[in-house]
Amino acid sequence: MRVLFGNGTVAKLAFEAERLGMKRVLVLSTPEQAAQAQDIATTLGPLSAGVFSQATMHTPSHITELALEVVRREAVDGVVSVGGGSTTGLGKAIALRTDLPQIVIPTTYAGSEMTPILGETNNGEKVTQRTLKVLPETTIYDVSLTLSLPVGLTATSGMNAIAHAVEALYAEEGNPIISLMAEDAIAALAAALPVIIEKPRDLEARTRAQYGAWLCGVALGSVGMALHHKLCHVLGGSFGLPHAETHTVVLPHAVAYNAAAAPEAMRRIARALGASDAAGGLHDIARKLNAPTALAALGMKESDLDRAADLATAKPYPNPRPLERTAIRALLEDAFRGARPKSSNSVIHGAAA
Ligand code: NAD
Repeated sequence: MRVLFGNGTVAKLAFEAERLGMKRVLVLSTPEQAAQAQDIATTLGPLSAGVFSQATMHTPSHITELALEVVRREAVDGVVSVGGGSTTGLGKAIALRTDLPQIVIPTTYAGSEMTPILGETNNGEKVTQRTLKVLPETTIYDVSLTLSLPVGLTATSGMNAIAHAVEALYAEEGNPIISLMAEDAIAALAAALPVIIEKPRDLEARTRAQYGAWLCGVALGSVGMALHHKLCHVLGGSFGLPHAETHTVVLPHAVAYNAAAAPEAMRRIARALGASDAAGGLHDIARKLNAPTALAALGMKESDLDRAADLATAKPYPNPRPLERTAIRALLEDAFRGARPKSSNSVIHGAAA
């Protein structure tokens, strides 16, 4: 796939669309970014076939159907997704059904633009698939479009990205190149995010964060994810918790769960964070960013923790430490309360002894 990265790169959109043979381009966005999408459509001039601005979280199939009606009616031959994972998801859902080429202009740190993964919701159930049909042809990273990302979303979206890199470091099909990228990604985001929280329009920090998010997206697209992503999928899909916030809260606890079984990954995460302990370091950075640290604060009910533990352990999947229902129920309890995870160093030493 082709990637443009820099400041002002969105000016090359029309050229990139033509490069892919697009003549009737539909620009996609959420309702909140409709004005931005309209501006981008205007820059496309005669190549623009309009804007569809109803993208929403978890790619519900009824929204995809509405977009497909516009694609057919306007004889659209390519889509441009301007926004976060929700908008990119809609572009991928259209590509899956039509094989139309996609250009993604990411404005969050979710990383979906780098993956062949699509999660779609139908009748309240979210199903995820991997297929190269949904991998975007071109990504245009333009840091200027991230300057408006509110600080709260910057923090949680950044933690969502870090979660991809963390799980890549202990993935079953992990490899040295992806680990190199993942560690550098965590270091870049951990350095940039606290600066952005203080100065949201700091171009250098925003550039560093977007670079980190790019790497995190590559990691997510290249190797399989484990317990952390499974838990977040369950909590988002079955209990309606918000995506990036849930990732932020669960990550330190999923890492603490896996710590003794993945000591090399823990060393690399801690080194990238400049912390003495991976799980504790992740909790500390979330606090530093004023991001949520407890599932209770996201609307999770304590009475649902049992069912969440059941769902997360119903089917086997690769994870460094075996899936133990009792321990996962305890992990969820810790995430519910938002306590700082106990030092994973002591766990590692315990395991080594
Ligand atoms: P999002 O796309 O839902 O965006 C959240 C809100 O922020 C939206 O209202 C959006 O319009 C707004 N927003 C985005 N960028 C902005 C900006 N620069 N300025 C102002 N407002 C802005 O959030 P997300 O966390 O990026 O994406 C979450 C979704 O993406 C979930 O459905 C998740 O499952 C999916 N996802 C998929 C993959 C994949 O590989 N398939 C990877 C990561 C996330």
